[in-house]
Amino acid sequence: MKITKVQAIQMSAPVPERNRHRTDLGTKVKSDATLIRVETDAGLVGIGAALGSPPIVQAVVDHELAPECQGEDPIFSERIFEKMYNGSRARPALERGVTQADESRRRGVIMEAIAGVDIAIWDVKAQALGVPLYHALGATRSSIRGYASGGWAPGEEAEAELGGYAAKGFTAVKMRVVGRDGFSIENCVRRVRAARRGIGPKAELMIDAHGSLEVATAIRLARELEEYDIAWFEEPVTPDDHAGQAEVRRSTIIPIASGEREFTRFDFADLLERRALDIAQPDVARAGGMTEIRRIAALTSTHGVRLAPHAWGSGVLFAASLHVAMSAPNCHILEVTQGYMPMMWELFEEPFDIRPDGTVHAPDRPGLGFTLRKDALDKFRYIDGPEFVF
Ligand SMILES: [Mg+2]
Repeated sequence: MKITKVQAIQMSAPVPERNRHRTDLGTKVKSDATLIRVETDAGLVGIGAALGSPPIVQAVVDHELAPECQGEDPIFSERIFEKMYNGSRARPALERGVTQADESRRRGVIMEAIAGVDIAIWDVKAQALGVPLYHALGATRSSIRGYASGGWAPGEEAEAELGGYAAKGFTAVKMRVVGRDGFSIENCVRRVRAARRGIGPKAELMIDAHGSLEVATAIRLARELEEYDIAWFEEPVTPDDHAGQAEVRRSTIIPIASGEREFTRFDFADLLERRALDIAQPDVARAGGMTEIRRIAALTSTHGVRLAPHAWGSGVLFAASLHVAMSAPNCHILEVTQGYMPMMWELFEEPFDIRPDGTVHAPDRPGLGFTLRKDALDKFRYIDGPEFVF
């Protein structure tokens, strides 16, 4: 089997006026994704998805990654990843067994594009093997607990919002540290107290600061929130300050989670060496696809760090994430978005199997196991411009 074509398709879903709201990230006016298609001479077609700016991802795929993948056999998925990661030095890197990363491919949009292509290659490979993708990766389980990820409501309204997720059956829920009413330590404590009231004493409650706080504020907030039994405090500080994150972790009993903006196992190695986290959250469509996220999962397990894949994007990204969750032994939970995301729910013919008890079940079809709807590419045509406006 040989790869004959690799294609990047830019996609957007506009957010209608009534669904727009302001958060610490700005006001979201659309969601973007880049769909990756890998065609083979066996007639099998794989799909993947990349994070990052779609026009830039497409340029990277068209000019660099597609020519490198053409003619390769998708069964050799590790080799293809190394070829994309090492660029012109792929041959000496593989001959010597030493990574020799291309200057510009180690992180950023090029790595996001590599991740998208890698997912599509794994989809084709698993289809060729005739098994669901998580079987090809090495299956650990066929279902996993999901957690409801949302929680932007202001003040006391957090009680109804988070309580609503628990009422859907989720036994774990996540809320944002910065609500629609902005941020202060006082207000955040008020919102968390309300949320805890809404979900009851048993459900797990996580909080996510999007890396928006300084170390001192993150520590103060963590200490104030300890009595509300927080399952994890996500991205307390910027991902560029691993030492600062380690300082936050040392100062609180709340477990620290991060990783959605990190690239490859090397970023996670640094977080682990600094003892900066308890839960790793690599994004399969950013950190390096199936190939690299498997390595990250194994690496984090050596430090007793659990995996909770970041899964906030298109249906392709969620499908890929659920196969990661079914295969990595140290994965304990999977993110299920509660945001406005039509590209998650309206992309495929087959619905995701999320049960009334909040568990996510794996498909039994070969590969990723999902078929693009006929109208998907027309419906989600790319719209130029930023996703968020301030
Ligand atoms: Mg997050």
